Amino acid sequence: MIFVQTKFELNSLLLDFKKNNELLSFVPTMGNLHEGHLSLIDIAKKNSSKTIVSIFVNPLQFGKNEDFEKYPRTLDDDLKKLKLKGCDIVFFPKSSHEVFNEKDKITQFKSGKKGQILCGKDRPGHFDGVLTVVYRLFELIKPNTAIFGKKDFQQQYLIKKMSMNFFPKLKILTGPIIRDKSGLALSSRNSYLSKKERKKASFFYLALKKGVEVFKETNNKSLSIDEAKKILSNENIKIDYLELMTNKLENVNNKGYSRKKIILGSIKIGKTKLIDNIEF
Ligand code: AMP
Repeated sequence: MIFVQTKFELNSLLLDFKKNNELLSFVPTMGNLHEGHLSLIDIAKKNSSKTIVSIFVNPLQFGKNEDFEKYPRTLDDDLKKLKLKGCDIVFFPKSSHEVFNEKDKITQFKSGKKGQILCGKDRPGHFDGVLTVVYRLFELIKPNTAIFGKKDFQQQYLIKKMSMNFFPKLKILTGPIIRDKSGLALSSRNSYLSKKERKKASFFYLALKKGVEVFKETNNKSLSIDEAKKILSNENIKIDYLELMTNKLENVNNKGYSRKKIILGSIKIGKTKLIDNIEF
């Protein structure tokens, strides 16, 4: 496994790959790797001859009062896991300058209307920051395929849109949500939870499942949302949002009923924000 910290090193590696006609799959991450991340590497390996994983806690996607400083950074452990998985290259930029040009030259992306709903509503600028870093990483790495998790459903939706416009040849694949035994979706932020909070957090998946079940029985969107919310309220869990939409993130109206749907939400357990969804 090759460990790369500068765009200069990265470039020379990529030139070698190009000469050898290698097909490159790319998995962007912010580190603190778990089975969710590793499942994306399995997909990457099936779709390419070389796999590159980036580990970069992107400052642009964190708001002023969010957890950028505190975000778990566990490089040694991450490298062990990646080596075991058979990852070929790890890009761990030694500073933001390796990713972004000078500040005034950063092309800031605007994530548009669908970047302002759901998670974008209480995290202004979040998806602009995500798209900006992903655009720049695609530009630097020039992969044939990039893989994202459905756990961050709105994120992968917006990235697919951006990629279709700016990197039309790039194939974007998505991987299913990996959960622990209790149903809780794996997330780097789960490490903030105490044992008690973790138990509480497992009601999130139960609530989403209930929402799906009620919708399938009744075709009634508000009833299914209410039933899901009831489960969370009974546990005194704060709900940031809970929505049922088409999987194109549109309202479920007459047209939408025939489309694939998704129930998705964001909750707070203590100070920890968790997101999850079920597509159906
Ligand atoms: P992050 O390190 O949180 O930026 O996540 C990096 C990638 O891993 C993103 O594409 C996430 O959607 C994906 N991911 C995070 N958690 C999970 C999970 N539990 N199952 C599948 N993919 C995940």
